[in-house]
Amino acid sequence: MQKLAYLGLGIMGGNMAANLIQAGYEVMVWNRTAAACGPLKEQSAEVATSPAEAVRQADVVLYCLSNEEAIEEVVFGDEGVLAAAKAGKIIVDMSTVHPATSRHEAVAIEATGAKFLDAPVLGSRDKAEAGTLTVVAGGSTEAFETVRPILEVVGGPVFHMGDHGAGTTAKLAGNLLLTAEAQLFSEAMLLASKSGLKVDAMAEMLRTTPLWPPLFELMTKTAQSRDFGVNFPLKHAYKDTNLITELAAEVGAPSAIGSAIRETLKGAVNQGWGDENFTALLKMLELQASQKLS
Ligand code: NAP
Repeated sequence: MQKLAYLGLGIMGGNMAANLIQAGYEVMVWNRTAAACGPLKEQSAEVATSPAEAVRQADVVLYCLSNEEAIEEVVFGDEGVLAAAKAGKIIVDMSTVHPATSRHEAVAIEATGAKFLDAPVLGSRDKAEAGTLTVVAGGSTEAFETVRPILEVVGGPVFHMGDHGAGTTAKLAGNLLLTAEAQLFSEAMLLASKSGLKVDAMAEMLRTTPLWPPLFELMTKTAQSRDFGVNFPLKHAYKDTNLITELAAEVGAPSAIGSAIRETLKGAVNQGWGDENFTALLKMLELQASQKLS
């Protein structure tokens, strides 16, 4: 069995690392804030004092970090991943970042002889806990097939989407659908609510039509419970809509909806809701409508 390193033990990385340990892999972990390593140490993980230390002892290195700044520090910084990358190792970035960042990592890492895959995930905390995330990878077929059994521990379906950057491109397109559905639900329900209709009655009617995707159940529940406890931090959804609109401009794709959602999420971050769940974008639209859904 390959020796693994897992760097970045947040909501997603912590659960993925735990599942790999439970599957019998020897895993060395590292996190910027060392306290997050505690629960994994109890499950037999070794704890590294730097990313490079973890990379040195690993055949396959996985990481799931917030954003480009984190990649800059953990991959390209002093005692970062790059400092210890070499032939024979496969480095897998599971963060949601710009595809150009994935390609930048690929060039730098593959120049050392190591192989690189971008392999972000769709699905949130529950799927990360259950090991049923959808993994979308970019890079060589050979590297993908070598790490497939590892990705299948953290993921249910795993997809090889193409060359470097194809995984992060697919992930961003998926997140446009996710955040668009949340915004669409909020706008449609506020239209009905401002006109005197009830969310319950609207939901009951719409469930009988093809207009009701699964996310609308979560949004309905959230509108009623007012529980914005975090699974997918809103600040990360905002980061993603920035990446989506940047990428759209670069490739010449339309992004009217992406731009509208970005403005909603920016407003929500400015309200101080960045550490709540992404569904708190509803609160921003309620604020604009001067009405809470009921
Ligand atoms: P999270 O809970 O906020 O964890 C972020 C991780 O990145 C933590 O380990 C954090 O370390 C680390 N980090 C942040 N800035 C850093 C820096 N400058 N240097 C070193 N480490 C740094 O986030 P998450 O929800 O697990 O998400 C991680 C990635 O997966 C993001 O790209 C997100 O968009 C994506 N994603 C999330 C979900 C979801 O539902 N949560 C689903 C799909 C994809 P500290 O503990 O020290 O802060």
